[in-house]
Amino acid sequence: MPSPVVHVGYALGFGTLIMTATKGSFTASHCLLLAVNSFFGPDIGSFIGWCLSLTFPALANTAMSYIHDSIGYIILIAPLIAFLSSKLLKKCSRWYDENNSSLISLNLKNCYLLSIAGCLLHFQIDHIFEENGQDKFYQWILSTGYFQKPTPPFLPLSVIFVGACTLSLFFGFAWIHLSTRETLSVRLKYTLILFVSVATIYLTYLVVSQIILKKIAVVGEEADLGVLIFLIVFHILPFILCLLSMQY
Ligand SMILES: [Zn+2]
Repeated sequence: MPSPVVHVGYALGFGTLIMTATKGSFTASHCLLLAVNSFFGPDIGSFIGWCLSLTFPALANTAMSYIHDSIGYIILIAPLIAFLSSKLLKKCSRWYDENNSSLISLNLKNCYLLSIAGCLLHFQIDHIFEENGQDKFYQWILSTGYFQKPTPPFLPLSVIFVGACTLSLFFGFAWIHLSTRETLSVRLKYTLILFVSVATIYLTYLVVSQIILKKIAVVGEEADLGVLIFLIVFHILPFILCLLSMQY
C-alpha cells in the first residue's frame, strides 16, 4: 500500500499544477481538501479496520471493504467529509487574515467534488501498486488484453478502427490548432468534441467486441478497454472535478 507521504505528496503536487495553470483560482483550500481526501479518506477504512481488528474482526473487515472502495467512499464517507470540511473552512477563513485569498471557504457542492477527486487520486495509485498486483480492478484491466503467445492475428476491422481513430486524433488536433483562426476557447471546445467523439466511438467498438460478442484479443494483445476506462475515471475525471470545484 502506498504510504501517506505518497498519497498526500501526489495530491498536493496535482493540486499545485492546477493552481499554477489557473493562476491561483484553484486555491490552497482546494489543494488541502484534495489531499485530505486522497489520504485520510479511503485509508480511514484501513485505520478503522486496524482499530477494530482485535475486538471486532468481522466488523473491521466490513468497514475496510465498504470504505476502502471508490464507490463505497463516494457514497458513504465523501458527503460526510464534504459537510464537515465546508463548515470548517468557513470558520477558518473567518479567523484567517481576510486579505489572504489562499484560504477561502468552499460551498458544500465544491467540497463534495474535491472529496470525490481526492478519492479517485487515491485509487489511481492503489489499484496499480497494492496487493502485489492482485487488486481486482487491476486484474480486470489486464484481463481485457490478451497476453498468451502466439498472439492471434489482427482482425481487419480492428486495424481499420485503430487506424481511423489514431489518425483522427492526431490530424484532427493538428487541424484545429494549426489551420483554424478561431480563439483559444473555441479551439479548446473543438478539441473536447474531438476527444469525446473518438473515445465514444472507440470504446463502443471495444465494448461491443469484447463484452457483447465475447471476442478475445480485439486489438492484438492491448488491454485498451481496461486502460481507457482507468485513464478516464482515475486520471481525467479528478482533473475535471477539480476544475468544476472552482465554480461558485
Ligand atoms: Zn489505500
